[in-house]
Amino acid sequence: MEGKPHSSQTYNTAGRMSWMKQDLGLPINKEKAAAGFDLVWSIISDAFKHSNENCANIAPNVSLKDLFREKLAERSLSHDDRNLVLQLAEMWGAFVGDSWERQSLKWFWLEECLDGENLFIADTHHAILQRMAKSAMRDADIHLSKTATSIEDRKGKDKDPRVLIRTEHCDFEFDEVVVTRDASYSRLEKVYIAFPVAFWDSPLPGAPNADSTSPTTSASFPSFAHFLHPTYVPDQQKSWTVELNLLSSAAVFGNRAQPVLLFTIYGPCATHVTSLIAPFSLASTQYFDVLNDFFRPYYSLLPNYVADHPDCFPSAVLATNWQNDDLAGNGSYTNFQISSEVGNAEEEVLLDEDVRELRAGMPEHGIWFAGEHTAPFVALGTSTGAYWSGESVGIRILGANGLLAKCSKDPNPNADVLP
Ligand SMILES: Cc1cc2nc3c(=O)[nH]c(=O)nc-3n(C[C@H](O)[C@H](O)[C@H](O)COP(=O)(O)OP(=O)(O)OC[C@H]3O[C@@H](n4cnc5c(N)ncnc54)[C@H](O)[C@@H]3O)c2cc1C
Repeated sequence: MEGKPHSSQTYNTAGRMSWMKQDLGLPINKEKAAAGFDLVWSIISDAFKHSNENCANIAPNVSLKDLFREKLAERSLSHDDRNLVLQLAEMWGAFVGDSWERQSLKWFWLEECLDGENLFIADTHHAILQRMAKSAMRDADIHLSKTATSIEDRKGKDKDPRVLIRTEHCDFEFDEVVVTRDASYSRLEKVYIAFPVAFWDSPLPGAPNADSTSPTTSASFPSFAHFLHPTYVPDQQKSWTVELNLLSSAAVFGNRAQPVLLFTIYGPCATHVTSLIAPFSLASTQYFDVLNDFFRPYYSLLPNYVADHPDCFPSAVLATNWQNDDLAGNGSYTNFQISSEVGNAEEEVLLDEDVRELRAGMPEHGIWFAGEHTAPFVALGTSTGAYWSGESVGIRILGANGLLAKCSKDPNPNADVLP
């Protein structure tokens, strides 16, 4: 993407120390947590190397967690320290959108991402999207809200490709079609909970003094918190680990700071939460109540929380529901999971080859594929990858139609990993 549209405000969320709550809701010693995190990242880095170098020899049913267990057994750690590292490593789930037990070690190298700042686009992607869509909006005939129900190759013998797209209401015929539909695998969801004020940043007027065991009662509260294996939640919440991003810090979010908590959930926890909200409309009391009830055990542990105080009661809640969204492929994005089928080498599913096949598309039929699932390996599952894949397909379509010389743009910077 060239430059940054002026109206997009981005903030770097890196470097804000996480504050964690362990089993019983007690904060973890900062130094201990930092050392644990360092070890987690060091093992993850080893895992990428191992997966890159030994992909062909790793069984498809071996998970990232299996490797962690193996690596931790080689170290002389106390039982508690080993457990802490295993609990911290669960945060990998928030990257890939599923439990880390399901993360394939064989295909772990496909998860390796571009290095860079961890930017938070506080005012959403709208300015970036508008800029990218400008020429299409100006020159193309755009039909929104028309769901394609089938794609048919209509090419006659020795004729140029013709592709028929059927929708519920009408049909369209094209000479080239780019399909962006995918079947996402991961289960990542976000839940926003807004409050009248950011009570966790400063004590509420008139409320009793903040609990002295709280890690901080000032606005220096970190922007990330992890609730590790909580045993203080109702049984049906199964001690799922959740991640919390606090969007209230002016130091991090400038004038876009808001008294909002952003929870990230994944795997079975995300499936459970989306099933809770499924029967209810966004505006209903039931929708509000199920989300509030689910997340209260977590947010009630924040500093200065006072039960029954009106400022500690949410003013609005909103959850994503990608798992029940057909147009999103019923999931969030591509990830690479373990497979229990350990067959012979010839039958083995090669996930990198699958991605290459998708990228190659079916140019002879006028059908191409783009989207995060066809991106360069370093950007699979990301917006950057989706953009690059579209750009790459666009250039290849120009090439296939003898128009490439007129295209002044360089091909994708990651052309080495494209077909
Ligand atoms: C919770 C969450 C957090 C994420 N965080 C990040 C992040 O921090 N950084 C990052 O880079 N990426 C992140 N991603 C991933 C990123 O959002 C996706 O990789 C990216 O949006 C994929 O773009 P795409 O164009 O491939 O697919 P999509 O954006 O899904 O576009 C596909 C389009 O095809 C349309 N479509 C599908 N089926 C049909 C049909 N039958 N007929 C007509 N139209 C159809 C859909 O409506 C949609 O508009 C996150 C995703 C989620 C869900």
